[in-house]
Amino acid sequence: MRNDASAAGAPPGPDPRATTFSPTPVRLRFSGGWRPPWVAEGEEVRLVLPFPPDTQATAGAFSRAGPPAGAEVLASFTVPAGSAVPAAWRDGGRPRLGFPAAEAVDFLRLERYAPRRRPVTRFLPFHYHWVPSGLRLGIQRVLSWLDARKGRPTFPTWPVDTAADVLGWMEAEARGATSVPRWPGGKSFALALTHDIDTGGGFRRLGLLRREEERRGLRSTWNVVAAHYRLDDGVLRDLAAAGHEIGSHGDNHDNRIAFDEPAAMRRRLEVCRPLVERYAARGFRSPSLLRTDRLFETLPLLFRYDASVPNTCEGLGCCTVFPFRIGSLVELPLTVPEDAHLLFHRVPLADRVAVWEASIERIRRVGGVAVLNTHPDPQFSGNEEGREAYGRIVERIAAYGDAWVTTAGALAEQWAAWNGVKAPNDP
Ligand SMILES: [Zn+2]
Repeated sequence: MRNDASAAGAPPGPDPRATTFSPTPVRLRFSGGWRPPWVAEGEEVRLVLPFPPDTQATAGAFSRAGPPAGAEVLASFTVPAGSAVPAAWRDGGRPRLGFPAAEAVDFLRLERYAPRRRPVTRFLPFHYHWVPSGLRLGIQRVLSWLDARKGRPTFPTWPVDTAADVLGWMEAEARGATSVPRWPGGKSFALALTHDIDTGGGFRRLGLLRREEERRGLRSTWNVVAAHYRLDDGVLRDLAAAGHEIGSHGDNHDNRIAFDEPAAMRRRLEVCRPLVERYAARGFRSPSLLRTDRLFETLPLLFRYDASVPNTCEGLGCCTVFPFRIGSLVELPLTVPEDAHLLFHRVPLADRVAVWEASIERIRRVGGVAVLNTHPDPQFSGNEEGREAYGRIVERIAAYGDAWVTTAGALAEQWAAWNGVKAPNDP
């Protein structure tokens, strides 16, 4: 196994885990009524751990101190071989964990369990947008179909995975800390609407989705590409004046920035600087959600938060519905499946809305952050069907009495303030 750390200029040398680890999911099962409030009785949580999953080695990794005789076992891992390894137990006061939970949480959130994707489009000698959008969608659908023939990955769980949050809850319980999130206004969960505008056609159609929001009193975040299509400053100023947020979707949607050398990456981010400064943009979403450790290391040059990591997508994702830190960067994960993903998989309109609703409902129970992304580009949601689907979901969102609906930037700032995450240039 290798992950992007090696490709991203991390110190050379093999990761000791890399040679032995195989990301076979284990199952976590709670007993005795001790479990996160959003996990049902008898529900099994699938997850992968930063240890070899075979019983012998796993037991070895966990053997800091097994449960003493007579302790009540509160949770167990069932490893693929079928035997159960105690994960948590009670011996008097607080629950005790038999494994390093914080390390396991990072392993999931930072996607260390699988190699990140590298798209073939970055090798094309021309910009892949030169291929007509209908043909691009067709190609993407064939690729998705080929992927689906291999079977949907069993981990992370789709459409929402909370494995890292389950482990985080256990870790907080063992510390005696509260892990109940509180959102402004006493709301039980947070929600941000975002849009990536990939093409000039998308920019010209943004009003289609904007109107659906504003009719219901909602505002959103519009991630624009700095130097790939004509940006109308009047439109951007008007969006900002109406309470929307402007974010960055890179300098060019060529799917290469995440893989560039550091100097080139910095140069390309500088191309975004005038736009970032003019509209006080704080956030970045990488084109096609392509991400590397090197990109995360470079983004704080210009940005406060990144929003490029999906919660679950094709066998990858951060497995959390809460923001988290990557260095001085706040990561605001994309927690609801985006329109492009559902279209690549030919999910029909009614089901698209149903997937969004079910995902938001799950996140609501956890008390996390629902981040929905739609594209106003004509091949995605910038058409009559897309507008209708979007209208239906924002109608539903506006009706939630317990949602803090805000912009991605406000959400990232609120979370950073609570967690004491300073911006790189803070005193
Ligand atoms: Zn995009």
